Amino acid sequence: MSQISVAIAGAGLSGLCLAHSLLRAGFDVQVYESDPEPFARRQGYRVTLDEYGMAGLQKCLPPRLFELFLATTSPTDEDSYFRVTNQDLGEVFKLTFKGDRSGTDLRTPRQTDRQTLRTIMLEGLQDRIHYGKKAVRADTAADGATLHFSDGSYTHASLVIGADGVNSALRKQLLPDCDPEDANSWGIYGRTPLLHNGQSIVPAPLKTSGVYAIGKAGKGFFFTTMNFREAPQAAFSRFGAEQLPPISDDYVMWALLLPKELFPVSQEKLDSEILHRFALETALDFHPVLRRFVNLADTDCTMLVKLKAARKPSSWPVSRITLMGDAVHVMPPTGSHGGNTALRDAALLAEKLKAAVSRGKPLEEAIASYQTEMSQYAFREVEAAKAMLKRFSIHNPFMSWVMLRAMPWIRSLKNKPLTTTE
Ligand SMILES: Cc1cc2nc3c(=O)[nH]c(=O)nc-3n(C[C@H](O)[C@H](O)[C@H](O)COP(=O)(O)OP(=O)(O)OC[C@H]3O[C@@H](n4cnc5c(N)ncnc54)[C@H](O)[C@@H]3O)c2cc1C
Repeated sequence: MSQISVAIAGAGLSGLCLAHSLLRAGFDVQVYESDPEPFARRQGYRVTLDEYGMAGLQKCLPPRLFELFLATTSPTDEDSYFRVTNQDLGEVFKLTFKGDRSGTDLRTPRQTDRQTLRTIMLEGLQDRIHYGKKAVRADTAADGATLHFSDGSYTHASLVIGADGVNSALRKQLLPDCDPEDANSWGIYGRTPLLHNGQSIVPAPLKTSGVYAIGKAGKGFFFTTMNFREAPQAAFSRFGAEQLPPISDDYVMWALLLPKELFPVSQEKLDSEILHRFALETALDFHPVLRRFVNLADTDCTMLVKLKAARKPSSWPVSRITLMGDAVHVMPPTGSHGGNTALRDAALLAEKLKAAVSRGKPLEEAIASYQTEMSQYAFREVEAAKAMLKRFSIHNPFMSWVMLRAMPWIRSLKNKPLTTTE
């Protein structure tokens, strides 16, 4: 098995997940990351993981790392909710996710801190990740493929995997007609410590909720709480991790989504301070609880994300080079499926490759089967995320009145307000 070498471009969620699985199966894996170090850039804060994302992690990570991941996710003892509200936190509808006291039922979605998850996934791969290596293209060769980097160097492997995210250089080359479309919406993401003067800034009825408040003119405000089930420092030491956790305090992650034309200045000028100021202004339309999250935010954690949606390839030739995750199926964040689908890809591709090797089948057969299966579920998620983004940007005045005025009023007659503090 050791003669099968795999070069992965991108040390993000899917690249690291695949690397673990293949390494455990005896493949020779090297990962090439364009960033100069693991946390050179802000990439977002908390990620909601669902059954597919967690199953992907469970299949790929060594059991000790998977247990450490579970220990550092949010608690699942209580039921949790995804609530859609109007801008005053009047509830339009909610989805309920049953709690799981055992903390082991992977059907119960949970929050994880992205940097913590990435730190866990870097464990054991330190000498396999090469930083400052920006992939620019890959060529097929008789017995594999060659991955080329921007510094002029290259590496040869039996397989090359493009896990190089939304602006993937390898996608541009392999699927030149599949540049993602602009979703015309940008998001300002921020992070705020959960406690202020020793008190939680999240009202008690919302403490296990993700909330999307629909505002005027296509604006929306999302937030959720990242609580660590076990203090990361204690969990890292209990599982004998070599690295220290990157963060230990609970926080609120919030995001303002708005049509890109509402942004005041060109994107080059949008540093975290300007973005934070703009977020403060935009949040004036929303309930004071939401405004407070922005007011108390760590300003330099404010970041911009431009929403994009992948185009499905009409045909995808099979070779020794393939793609995973955002590189091929980036989607808007509505629904929280991008990362989950990327982890699912990693587990699926690993499974197909391992099966091909153990049965003595050509690697191309595994890649063909992976590309077919992955395209089906991944592009279903892309379409669902696009449709949800559209539904949340209500422009029809009658629909807006029904959704954002009439429904919250009717619901308020039988429910307590969401902002009580008890
Ligand atoms: C703020 C935010 C919140 C999100 N929340 C959720 C959520 O709740 N649930 C969910 O499922 N998804 C969520 N997502 C989406 C999710 O983060 C992505 O879908 C996921 O990270 C994709 O994984 P990936 O491995 O494909 O790419 P990434 O994790 O983006 O990794 C790509 C890696 O490739 C590197 N790279 C880029 N170009 C090159 C190159 N040329 N050569 C080498 N390396 C390169 C990058 O530096 C990066 O390390 C969120 C995204 C953002 C931005």
